[in-house]
Parts: sequence; C-alpha cells; structure tokens
Amino acid sequence: MHDVLTVCCYCGCGCGLYLRVEGGRVVGAMPSRSHPVSRNNLCAKGWQSFAFIHHPDRLTRPLVRKKGRLHPVGWDEALDAAAQGLRRVREAHGPDRIGVLASAKCTNEENYLLQKFARAALGTNNIDHCARL
Ligand code: SF4
Repeated sequence: MHDVLTVCCYCGCGCGLYLRVEGGRVVGAMPSRSHPVSRNNLCAKGWQSFAFIHHPDRLTRPLVRKKGRLHPVGWDEALDAAAQGLRRVREAHGPDRIGVLASAKCTNEENYLLQKFARAALGTNNIDHCARL
C-alpha cells in the first residue's frame, strides 16, 4: 500500500490530495496537510474523487446508439455519429437547440477551444461549465 500525491480533478480549485493505492488499485483519497490551496481539507467531491477510477459503469470506450441500444465503436465512427447528430439537430431546429457542457477535468485551453467550437462551429452561445451545476 502506498499514497500518491496528486490534485483533485473535480473542479478548478486544485485541492491537493493523496490517492491510496493498494494491490494496484486506487482505494481511497485523503487531503494533503501541506498543500497551499486546500490545507488538509477536501469537499465532499474531493473525498470521493477516486470512486470513478475502477467503477464498473465507467465509460472506457465510445458508444453509439443503434436501434435503441448502445454499441462499442471506434473513435472515428463515434465522432462521425456525433457530427451527424449535431448537424441534423442544427439543420432541423436551429443552433440554439444545442447546448455544450465544458468540464473542470479539461485544461483552460481545452475549455477555451470548446467555447470556440460552440460559438464559431455550432453557432450557439449555449455553453456552460460543470463547476456551476
Ligand atoms: S472538487 Fe472539492 S476537493 Fe476537489 S478541487 Fe474542488 S473544492 Fe477541492
């Protein structure tokens, strides 16, 4: 068993924490006493920040719905399906029927590109961020 110092991935605060690793699996999270941001504190999300890592419902590959059921596919097929779906909605109902949710797990640069994609490519200002949910 050992602890690995890292940063919580759930929001932009960047709290420091240790992930406890046992038998090659992450089994817990604890705050870092000396971290300058969090100083031995974590919020409820931070304490559970390890739970998704080995969760059986975690998505590990793209899925595309076909005839009502989700099927694993490669990235090219998944991206083509997403592009077709977005185009179909935009053409049928207009760009403001599309909304985009950015993620605190992304870098600032990735989130910047996502809002550019929403505004310039999709033509909508409907973009928000998971930290506000
Ligand atoms: S989700 Fe909580 S623990 Fe994680 S960085 Fe944000 S405030 Fe800190």
